[in-house]
Parts: sequence; structure tokens; C-alpha cells
Amino acid sequence: MQHISSHSEAKGINKPKVWAVIKANAYGHGIEQAVAAFEQADGLAMLDLNEAILCRQLGWTKPILLLEGFFQAADLLVLDQYDITTSVHDDYQLDLIASSNLSKPINVFLKMNTGMNRLGFMPNDYDRAWKIANQLKSDGKINELGKMTHFARADDDFNQTRQQLDVFLQHVENYDGPISLCNTAATLDNHWDNVQTDQQQWVRPGVCLYGSSPFADRSAASFGLEPAQTLSAEIISIRELGAGEPIGYGHKFTTDKPTKMGVVSCGYADGYPRVIEEGAPITVDGVRTKVLGRVSMDMLVADLTNVPTAKIGSKVILWGEGGPSIDEVASWANTIGYELMCAVTNRVSRQII
Ligand SMILES: *Cc1c(COP(=O)(O)O)cnc(C)c1O
Repeated sequence: MQHISSHSEAKGINKPKVWAVIKANAYGHGIEQAVAAFEQADGLAMLDLNEAILCRQLGWTKPILLLEGFFQAADLLVLDQYDITTSVHDDYQLDLIASSNLSKPINVFLKMNTGMNRLGFMPNDYDRAWKIANQLKSDGKINELGKMTHFARADDDFNQTRQQLDVFLQHVENYDGPISLCNTAATLDNHWDNVQTDQQQWVRPGVCLYGSSPFADRSAASFGLEPAQTLSAEIISIRELGAGEPIGYGHKFTTDKPTKMGVVSCGYADGYPRVIEEGAPITVDGVRTKVLGRVSMDMLVADLTNVPTAKIGSKVILWGEGGPSIDEVASWANTIGYELMCAVTNRVSRQII
């Protein structure tokens, strides 16, 4: 995030503040770890009310934003009690605020749907929603009223993102209040920098904070990002096979030459994707090699033919530091690093460094 501040300062515009996005247990890394690690962020953003409460209990005093907002009247009392900012994307939420009886006015980001077609008021309806929210502000139910949107293709279509941004700016230009726009991809591509405003801007990076890239064609390493998460295991058995011998369930893979194989103590019950394709990268004893055959619940098989030092207990890196990147492994499973990092299961023992 250093790059962002120096860049904006150079241009003399309002430096964006950072919501560190820690939804889904901080993308699988743990709320407690995130609260400590992102101490310097200006705020934390998430989905789950219980995670938001946990942040307060852990001593986080700066702003907290609920990205999807609240769903019922009882949630509002919790927002009030723990001083949590909420997104508002629908009329029922405005109604709930109108009929609430809170100890103090609540901070709100009113969300516009500029093309994601998930949450938010349509651009041509935003004016009406803003007026209602602004009335709630006059009535003392809302404190700070901001505006936000979310980009659908910041990772793969720069121009489409520009269009979403233009739609947003067109419809909010007359409204004062903080602005929150950019996920990781849009932040790294500096879309926030196209907003001419005196209002406070907030970016919302998530996945980059954990050392993963949202772009299919630009690696985390190319941005200088280091993996926050390393999944490792050990070799628990070694076997020499001749040519033409099958391995594992369904005999999905058959050796085409004499092969030394090692059984690795990690399977889909740990969060390693069963759907991963034949030949996915894996590192054993510091040597990059590949996965053979089908991933089992508790085990998978690595090719040790080119890993002469491999023995029982050899360290295996499934992804992360010293192994393939989580994004590369994800691409072999036809998914994204996000899914892998938040799908590591509870039975995997965590070591916090
Ligand atoms: C998840 C999320 C983000 C962060 O996205 P990344 O791609 O992980 O940076 C930002 N804003 C909203 C609304 C989100 O849901």
C-alpha cells in the first residue's frame, strides 16, 4: 500500500484510506491474526457480524465496515453497540434504520449497483435512495453518509471497470460524503486515482493482503507480494514402480516409465482440491515436482523420480513459501487463490509466524 500513498501525495489529491478486507475469517488466516497484522490499516471490512464483534473484543478501535450490511432489526442494535459502519444496498435496510431506536446515529455507505448486478441500488434509483438516506441523516438516524460500489471485472477488463466508475461518478457528483470503490485489482490498477474529489476515499483491498494476485496474467510476485499462507505436509511413504503401473483411486494415472512415488500427508479433507489436474506442481525437499493420480481424502501422491534426497519425513510444500504459489496451484484446479486460502480445513494445524 506504500505505493498508493506516495503516488497520491505526489499529485496532491486526497490520499485514500484503506479498509483491509478480512471477510471469511480473514480469507482463512484467522481474525485474530488479521487484527494484529493489519494494525496500520484505517479500517477493517468484512461480512460477518460475529467477526466484527470479535475485532472489537480483540481491541480494534478504528472503523469497521460490514460489506453486505445488516439483515434484520436486531443486527442494528449490535452495530450500534459495537460502533460498526454498514453498507446499505436495499430499501428494507433504509426502512429498518428509519424505524430503529439507536443510542446514536449510524455510519452508512449507500451502495450503487454499477454493473456487478449483485447488491446495490440501480444508478437511476440511487438519487431516490440517497434522498431517503439523507433525510435519515437530518432525522439523526444516520451520522456519516458515504457512497460505494463494487467492480465486477477489475481483474480482467480495465475498460469495463472504467465504465462502472464513470456511471458511479456521474450519479454521485452532487453528493458529499466518503467514497469507497476499489478491491485489490482496481486498487493495483489505480482506478481510485481517476476520482477527482475532495471527499475522503477508501480502497478495499483483500486478496493482495494475503500475498495472492487477483489477475490471471500478473503474478503476486510481480507486485512484490509474499505469500501469507504456506500449506505444508510430509512424505509418509515411498515406493518404486515400474512402467505401466497405476496409482490411486480409479487408477486415474498410470506410470509410463519407472517411477519413484511418495505419499504425502495431505488430501482434500485438508483443503487441497480433489479436482486438481494431473501434473499440478508441488515441492518436495525444495525440488519442484508434480502430483500423480487422484487426490484422496487424507493423502496424495507426488512424483519423486527427480527428487533424489526425498525420504520419509521430507518436507512437502503444497503452496506458499518455498513452493508453487497459491495462485498457480489454483489455476491447476480451475479456481482462484481466494478459494484455496479460505478452504483450508480446521484439522490442519496452524503455526503463526
Ligand atoms: C471481497 C470484497 C473486496 C475485496 O476483494 P479482493 O479482490 O479480495 O481485493 C472488496 N469489496 C467488496 C465489496 C468485497 O466483497
